[in-house]
Amino acid sequence: FAKQSGRDATRRFSWELKEALTSKIELIQDLRHAILNQEFHLLYQPIVNKYGKVTKFEALIRWVHPEKGLIPPDRFIQFAEESGQIVEIGHWVIQEAKRALASIREVHGDQVQISVNVSPIQLSKQQGEDGRLLAELLLHNTSSRKIQQHNGLIVEITEHLLMNSDESTRKALLAFREEGIQVALDDFGTGYSSLAYIMNYDIDYLKIDREFVQKLGAETTSETLCEAIISMAHALGVLVVAEGVETQEQADLLLGYGCDYLQGYYFSKPIPLQKVLSYQQGKVLLS
Ligand code: C2E
Ligand code: MG
Ligand code: MG
Ligand code: MG
Repeated sequence: FAKQSGRDATRRFSWELKEALTSKIELIQDLRHAILNQEFHLLYQPIVNKYGKVTKFEALIRWVHPEKGLIPPDRFIQFAEESGQIVEIGHWVIQEAKRALASIREVHGDQVQISVNVSPIQLSKQQGEDGRLLAELLLHNTSSRKIQQHNGLIVEITEHLLMNSDESTRKALLAFREEGIQVALDDFGTGYSSLAYIMNYDIDYLKIDREFVQKLGAETTSETLCEAIISMAHALGVLVVAEGVETQEQADLLLGYGCDYLQGYYFSKPIPLQKVLSYQQGKVLLS
């Protein structure tokens, strides 16, 4: 009997594996046409400062597959990275985000910023000889860049990138700085690097992963951790964004710790550009 069920399990396992592989191959094939067929779009999630004012938006990609419908980034970004397609997709994301930033600034003013998620692969393949290629791509307004403190774009990278970084990563980050492109460290706390190590790199923001934020109010360790991350970051001159804020209690605790920016469903889900252009500061955003 044990043997029988073991064989069944093996059969089931290999069937599932085959299914997973087939859908992975299919997805990678379908990704090839996705840009041309305009199947991607960006949503923008508001980020509020300590006074509740929306000052930034994070651009988040969505793929509407002609047959399979909406495919979230967690289901295809990894495949796009494995196949190298992330470079082209990432290029599109940056161009689209820059177009959006221009129209958002016309409505909401020049201080608004947009952050884009950049994959490590994109960085290594797009940075060019001296790390400038991606920086050039990210340039929003070449003519006035020297007089601006920031050009409006923030690049979100993960801890993982810094942990496996080489000289060219450091150069790319330097090039960003020279062009007024700010850098945020995404999903902080999920990797294994120490804050001290990370601070060897010149980063502007640290984003506390929602895993920690969502346990606020329920688990004292998360409270201690968030508080410590925020005060250490501040001591090192880095601003802090909390991700995945879903309740008022979480928001209040974070603000009490001195957190600089909050992002999460409590304020707003990611919304389309049209909605970004029509929202009014101070009004509750709903998606
Ligand atoms: P991320 O950069 O950490 O983005 C935050 C994710 O958390 C987003 O998921 C957002 O919708 C979700 N989120 C925000 N607030 C809340 C909340 O209060 N509760 C919960 N449960 N979730 C919240 P999304 O849009 O599905 O993106 C997932 C990940 O995919 C992103 O994580 C990012 O790593 C990646 N990604 C998204 N867009 C791009 C892109 O254009 N390029 C690259 N390379 N990666 C992207
Ligand atoms: Mg992000
Ligand atoms: Mg994140
Ligand atoms: Mg993430």
